[in-house]
Amino acid sequence: MDGSTTTPLEHRSAQLIDQFGRHKHKLRISLTDRCNFRCSYCMPDRPEWLARKDILSFEELLTFCEMMVSLGIRHIRLTGGEPLMRQGVVNFIDALNRLKPHGLERISMTSNAFYLNKYALALKEAGLDDLNISLDSIHADTFMNMTKRPIAPVLEGIAAAQQANLPIKLNCVLVAGQNDHEVLELTQWAYQQKIALRFIEYMPLDQPKHWQRQKVITEDNIVQTLNPHFQIQKQARQHDPATIYLLNDQYTLGIISTISKPFCQSCNRLRITAMGELFT
Ligand code: SAM
Ligand code: SF4
Repeated sequence: MDGSTTTPLEHRSAQLIDQFGRHKHKLRISLTDRCNFRCSYCMPDRPEWLARKDILSFEELLTFCEMMVSLGIRHIRLTGGEPLMRQGVVNFIDALNRLKPHGLERISMTSNAFYLNKYALALKEAGLDDLNISLDSIHADTFMNMTKRPIAPVLEGIAAAQQANLPIKLNCVLVAGQNDHEVLELTQWAYQQKIALRFIEYMPLDQPKHWQRQKVITEDNIVQTLNPHFQIQKQARQHDPATIYLLNDQYTLGIISTISKPFCQSCNRLRITAMGELFT
């Protein structure tokens, strides 16, 4: 910022470029650290949540987003924790939607979909453009083992999003010994449902420090498993963090191979935590 009297939306000529020369067009906002799931690869069994007073208010977030859009952010993704656990999220999306005439092009969300049945239509009407939904298994027992929550509300949430015409993609983190036996079944299920699926390599982000290299199911492992069952064509890499594979000339499968094939040099994202820490 230059200290002049222009409002945030007037800083259009400036650009967000980090210390590695990467242009930033995407912003990921953690609306809350809280979550109703306990995914084995993400949350400890007994998490300690931030105090509510330490979390940025929606007013503060909106001011920040106005400034970021004026500096070139075109895509905002709301995440968490679980973003649908934060009261007022629909109104916040409605407020973000008013930044679209000022350069914001897309508002997205990543959610576990547990509460989506209740919110899907309101989110669509408020201006949400698309949703990534985490789905690590399509079997009730495996799902319960991995997340400690039942699968039924999640499947209802997926159906509600489809009914509301909200474009969705599924995200699946594969962990050896937990859900890697479902690679083929998950792919076939998503293919039949005509929902794009992305497998994500297990990263060492988990609080309980359970991550081990041998628990990572790599991009090559996944392609090997699917090879006998589909005609698979690898697509040229774009800016998407996922490598895209076309199955049977008609279905798009993504694999985010952060561990086996890192792509940090082309990352165009910023992220801000619920407490307001900003990271490139
Ligand atoms: N609660 C929402 C959800 O699960 O979709 C949003 C927050 S969650 C942290 C965002 C994404 O990070 C999810 O797709 C989740 O699968 C992924 N994720 C969490 N921990 C991960 C890990 N250790 N390795 C890879 N992906 C992880
Ligand atoms: Fe919650 Fe998402 Fe983490 Fe699972 S991955 S525990 S749903 S924040």
